[in-house]
This record gives sequence, C-alpha cells and structure tokens, in this order.
Amino acid sequence: MRYISTRGEAPALGFEDVLLTGLATDGGLYVPESLPHFSLEEIRSWRGLCYSELAFNIMHPFVDDAIPAGDFRKMLDETYAVFAHKAVAPLVQLDTNEWVMELFRGPTLAFKDFALQLLGRLLDYVLEKRQQHVVIMGATSGDTGSAAIEGCRRCEHVDIFILHPYQRVSEVQRRQMTTVQGDNIHNIAVRGNFDDCQRMVKESFGNQSFLGGKTQLVAVNSINWARIMAQIVYYFHASLALGGPDRSMAFSVPTGNFGDIFAGYLAKKMGLPISQLVIATNRNDILHRFMSGNKYEQHQLEHTLSPSMDIMVSSNFERLLFDLHGRDGLAVKTLLENAAKGPVSIEDYRWRHARKLFDSDAVDDKTTCDTIHEIYQQNEYLLDPHTAIGVRAARNCRRDNTVPMIALGTAHPAKFPDAVSESGLGVQPPLPTHMADLFEREERYTVLDNNIAAVQEFIAKNWKNT
Ligand SMILES: *Cc1c(COP(=O)(O)O)cnc(C)c1O
Repeated sequence: MRYISTRGEAPALGFEDVLLTGLATDGGLYVPESLPHFSLEEIRSWRGLCYSELAFNIMHPFVDDAIPAGDFRKMLDETYAVFAHKAVAPLVQLDTNEWVMELFRGPTLAFKDFALQLLGRLLDYVLEKRQQHVVIMGATSGDTGSAAIEGCRRCEHVDIFILHPYQRVSEVQRRQMTTVQGDNIHNIAVRGNFDDCQRMVKESFGNQSFLGGKTQLVAVNSINWARIMAQIVYYFHASLALGGPDRSMAFSVPTGNFGDIFAGYLAKKMGLPISQLVIATNRNDILHRFMSGNKYEQHQLEHTLSPSMDIMVSSNFERLLFDLHGRDGLAVKTLLENAAKGPVSIEDYRWRHARKLFDSDAVDDKTTCDTIHEIYQQNEYLLDPHTAIGVRAARNCRRDNTVPMIALGTAHPAKFPDAVSESGLGVQPPLPTHMADLFEREERYTVLDNNIAAVQEFIAKNWKNT
C-alpha cells in the first residue's frame, strides 16, 4: 500500500514512513493511494469475530507487508486487551433503533485510546526493526495528551513530550497525563494558552535543528494516518452487531478535527452499508457552516463545555476536500492557501456532493446540558458533553427511523464533571475503578515559560540518547 499527499507534490510513501511522518513535505496530509474494498459476503463472514480479529481483517491491507500477519495479530490482541470491557466498543441502547457506541472504555476514557494504544505499539515495532529512536512532540488541551502518553508509556524507542497550557486544563485531564510514570514521559506545562503550545509544536516540526540531527520528531495528532486507520474498525464492529451488512446504518459523530467521522466515511467507501453520517459540532461550527452554506471560514475560538471539540479549523477536512476535488492535489493546495487568507467556497456541484455524503448540526452548551438531562431522565444513563452533542445531532438530523442510528460515545462522563453538574442533575459520575485513585497518584511535570527556546532546550536535554 502506497500513501500520497493531499497536496500532490510530496513523494508517495509506504506504511512505515507514513507512520513516522507528520505533515507531508508539501504541507499536505497522507492518504492511501487506493482503498481496499470488501464485498458484502466478506463482511458478512466476519459476524461474531472479536474486536481484535475484526481489526486485523480491516487494517491488514493498509499495513500490508510492513508487519508480518502473525506479529500484527499479536499487537492487536494486546492493544484491545487493555480496554476495560470485553466487547471493547459496547453498544448501549437509548431508544427504539437508537444506540450509543461506548468508545471510552480504554485507559484514558476517551475514544482516542483506540488509535493511540495501537500507534504506540506500531511505532515501537517499526523502530525496533530500524534500530531508531524518535521524539514525539505534541500539544494538548485535554484528551490527546493523556491518550498519547498512555499509548507510549511502554515504548522503548520513543520519548514523548506533551505540552499543555499551565493551569488551563481540567484537573482530571492534567492528572491523567502527569501521573503516568516513566523515564520516557515528559509533561511540560507552558505558561501560556493552548495556541501558544500548538504554535511551538508546529514551529519545532518545521525546524528540527534543535535536536542536532540525532533524532526526529513524530506527530501523534490526527494528521497521523495510523490514527484514522484504527478508527475505521469500530464502524464495522457496530454494524455487524446490529444486523449489518444486510441493513445499512446511520452514525452521528461528535466532531472537532474531522478525524473520527472521516474514518466513518472511509468505512462506507470500503463497502460497509452506511446510509447517513452526521457531523455533530459544538459552537465551533466551521464544518456545519460549510455544509449549510458552502463557505469555509475561520471564526474566533469559543470555549465550550465540550473542550475536545474546540477548534477553529478541522485539519482532517483536507482529506475529504481531496476526494471532493477528484484527488487533484494542486486544486486542494490552492484552495487551502486561499482559506488561510479568508473565506473560501468550492464549486457548487462538489459542495452538493458533500451534502449527499454528510448531514450536520451544531449544538450549543445549553442544548448539550439539556440533552444530558433528558437522556438521564429517560434512561438513567449519563452522557458526557461530547457524546450528548452526538445524540442531539442524531435526533435532529434523523432521516429514516428504520435505520439504526448510532451516536459515537467519545468520552466517559467522569472526565467532564462540570458539564454534568451544569445539566442540573445533582449526580456526579464516579471514575471507573481502574482510575479511582487518580487524585492520590503522584504527579510529575515541568513548568516552562512561554518561550520556544526554553521548550526546545528542555527537549534536547531530556530525550534518552543525550
Ligand atoms: C478528540 C475528541 C473529539 C473530536 O474528534 P475528531 O476526530 O477531532 O473529530 C470528540 N470527542 C472527544 C471526547 C474527543 O476527545
């Protein structure tokens, strides 16, 4: 399997190199040159497979000969064994023909574990083979950092540096990062905001000379292809549990950077019958505005009760734009260069095609809380604010009641106690047992000034081989 850039100018790469790359050298994102396609018969034959067996069937074509089948199976067994539910991604029914797919049973209680638990293992496998050591550098406002740290804690060939804005992430989120002990784990609290952290990461990727040529940076945000790949699996898993592929499904996906829902779009292209995909956003609704009016325009960042979806632009949307433009990299390059300067539109027929693929909705904080409240009243089931947005959008956009509607449950409610209390329920979700002592665990992090030289010096000094 070869991977090509959405901007058409970077060299095509194989799986291993894509794994170890952030952005392509032309500023684009890597996508598979062609997708595997599964027949209904083949998908039907996967009924009853456990999660990791299904994951193998779906992901093996992407990994190809980079990893021998036996090793890859073993890796997947280990990856999904760490989840605190035998079904890995269990479905919970909310109403007639309406479900939540619980993607928060992993170590850090958010769906990002599905990809990052695998990514850590993939990296270590490939780096062991190459006898190479890398440095992961990332910025987080919450869920990505803890999932990446958990995913890499046992990696022999990776040092991980995660920047978070000092005193600006929730206590649960901070503790999930800073209480993971390991010589290769480095939490940096920057005296600045999330944008400052992100800017430092971006600049560091652009000029890695501070590492003295002795190692390289690897990205773990959702521009990394392997993350998208791992997320395709659970769309198949849910469908097979509810009568697919002989019935089509609808999915509603709480969306920030368009990674998770892009995986759903790929599942459909790979042969899974999906009749509806709903883009569910909070008030940071650039995607909903685009889908409604064909205008892609960056607004100010809003701080909401669903912070993991607080974004101004959706990086993975570029991957969809590439398909919408008939995979013409130069067209995408021009469009996105213009988008950096001001609002852009795409040709009407392309936009109409996008609207056939996706429905969309934007949900504000008040409606998010009302939804948490309503579902608890109806079912005594507590939603986290991100999942609540998915459920609300699912109900608002529903087209056909005979098609099962599955909202992706992207986080455990215990991660976001503020939203739960604002919904006026007077209940507090307890942390799951494997995390019950989170507030007693020892924390470790370094506070640094909002200064890129200070951060780079810290990294250069503290990664393993120095
Ligand atoms: C990251 C995240 C999202 C958004 O996922 P994207 O792939 O960026 O669209 C939604 N909910 C939660 C809880 C998250 O952590």
